[in-house]
Amino acid sequence: MKIFDNFNLKELNTFHISVNAKKLVVIESENELPQIQSIIKNNKYLILGGGSNVLFVNDFDGIIIKNEITGKEIIKETDEEIFLKIKSGEIWHDIVMWTVNNNWNGIENLSLIPGTAGAAPVQNIGAYGVEIKDVLEEVKIFHLETQSFQVLKNQECRFSYRDSIFKHELKDKTFITEIVLKLKKKNHVYKTDYGNIKEELSQLNVTTLSPEKIAQAVIRIRTSKLPDPAIIGNAGSFFKNPEVSSKKYLEIKNKYPDVVAFPLSNHTYKIAAGWMIEKLGLKGLEYKGAAVHSKQALVLINKNNATGKDLFDLSEIIINKIFDNFGILLEREVNIIT
Ligand SMILES: Cc1cc2nc3c(=O)[nH]c(=O)nc-3n(C[C@H](O)[C@H](O)[C@H](O)COP(=O)(O)OP(=O)(O)OC[C@H]3O[C@@H](n4cnc5c(N)ncnc54)[C@H](O)[C@@H]3O)c2cc1C
Repeated sequence: MKIFDNFNLKELNTFHISVNAKKLVVIESENELPQIQSIIKNNKYLILGGGSNVLFVNDFDGIIIKNEITGKEIIKETDEEIFLKIKSGEIWHDIVMWTVNNNWNGIENLSLIPGTAGAAPVQNIGAYGVEIKDVLEEVKIFHLETQSFQVLKNQECRFSYRDSIFKHELKDKTFITEIVLKLKKKNHVYKTDYGNIKEELSQLNVTTLSPEKIAQAVIRIRTSKLPDPAIIGNAGSFFKNPEVSSKKYLEIKNKYPDVVAFPLSNHTYKIAAGWMIEKLGLKGLEYKGAAVHSKQALVLINKNNATGKDLFDLSEIIINKIFDNFGILLEREVNIIT
């Protein structure tokens, strides 16, 4: 365990917001977790992975618990399946590359998502038709209050679109220490219907699908569309795509026949929030140091030394305009830290 007082968090969040925390505690092994309670005492605290889904609006008057617990192993294997135990501080994309290089199938569509493996279940990360819930066996957690470990099976995590129990009942109460993934060694059904995967695969002249080829296509698409947080501060999609009733969808469709939306199984529709933002001419909009990315309207960026407040205020402007125009209340995907 390492402890630093009055620590600047600029390098620990992908928006590169320069704020200070009262204390930074770096956890390198789950054996250190029982000591955390006496450090936290009555202070406010935040568990931090790669900082790629948080927006610090002010200095953090509390303790940042930074997860650096690493390690990975195969725990079970059959002809068809493989079970991997991954410590939560592992870099998610490195894990994807490990699986892809070994020809294990299941998370290739989730290539290049920044952050740690332990944060992946928190918002049930998803991309190109795959969510981590599709391959997640279990999650091991440490309850900070009771100082006890527990294993949650997939069903107990109550996953849904960018959501889980870790954003509700267990929010800020538990530290995820490891995850177990169940991947396929054969008979895998690849998901290529989303985004431009098919087009990209044909450009790469791919005739036989493999996790490596899918990952390659996904990486090429993502690199061409999304700003690299190492160069332009951002946290990926800032808003969730809202789910609306079929009545609401038809209302929008009548007004805007080009609406981008996807039917869901329960007679509702998911409307592309990026489409709505673009439709209102907000792509590229700047507010103080913050801006809406000019290539991808769902992504807000730190364009010019933005503060967390600049980015937050820009997100408020967008939420209000979308509500006034479409009658839909956008929800932030990024965790706002005050
Ligand atoms: C360029 C870019 C592209 C992105 N693309 C996608 C995408 O395609 N799909 C997608 O779903 N997301 C995407 N994201 C968002 C982000 O990468 C994911 O949400 C990621 O899982 C966050 O990981 P992290 O370690 O950085 O979490 P952090 O930002 O550090 O934390 C996020 C939340 O999880 C909590 N948390 C973190 N670790 C733990 C733990 N060990 N135990 C308990 N709670 C914890 C934190 O308290 C916080 O509430 C993107 C982000 C960027 C910058």
